[in-house]
Amino acid sequence: MHSGGGATPPDSRYDWTNRSRAPKMDPGRDFRHPGRELDNTAVEQAQDTRVKNTPLIACHECDLLQREPPLHEGGIVRCARCKAELYRSHPDGFERTLALTAGAIMLLAIANLFPIIGMKLQGQVIEITLFHAIEMLWNKDMKSVGVLVFVTTMLMPALELLALTYLLLPLRLGRAPVHFAFVFRLLQAVKPWVMVEVLMLGVLVSLVKLAKIAGVVPGIALWSFAALMFVMAAVAAAFDPRDLWRRMSESGS
Ligand SMILES: [Zn+2]
Repeated sequence: MHSGGGATPPDSRYDWTNRSRAPKMDPGRDFRHPGRELDNTAVEQAQDTRVKNTPLIACHECDLLQREPPLHEGGIVRCARCKAELYRSHPDGFERTLALTAGAIMLLAIANLFPIIGMKLQGQVIEITLFHAIEMLWNKDMKSVGVLVFVTTMLMPALELLALTYLLLPLRLGRAPVHFAFVFRLLQAVKPWVMVEVLMLGVLVSLVKLAKIAGVVPGIALWSFAALMFVMAAVAAAFDPRDLWRRMSESGS
């Protein structure tokens, strides 16, 4: 089984970084046969190729461009200048992201199909799903609020989870997803618009206020949204884009 990105042994192309720690030698001199000059152009070309094969990374804090050192399991690579974290190892990050995404899809489905809140009024319990609440906002001439709730709590979380599944599942099965780069960019664009936690905050404030005038019963969907909030955070923590791109280039070759 393939483990997470950080668990893989350093690539042989990184070898030059270790060699660079060795005492510097004159590339133009053949040390096995002192006095004999080597062809400098050939030596420089070989060094150039080795350097070019090592990936570059720009620090997101101070913009310093640097060579990527090898990363061991559980390790963190920091910027040489400002010490900001460049990337870290996510042991089994790929498998955990996929499992958490599957869990999040189920929670999102429950959150949208079951009542989010129930109110006891004159002996009757009136239950409402999130979609009904959006429908009511639309009909009560609060269209913009309705659209905002729909986009940030239903459409965007669903798109994020579908995009994640589309990218992860084929790679797990050893296949390269079609339009990988486009879906990856879509995923990055969708993420800032997922606001399940804002909805939770809004619902909790409303619950406290409503509890004074009527009996309020939290629905299954509310608990599901609360769990979804934590699972989405866990997905974000386990997701390793570098590992995803590495698997993609391996499956394509
Ligand atoms: Zn930096």
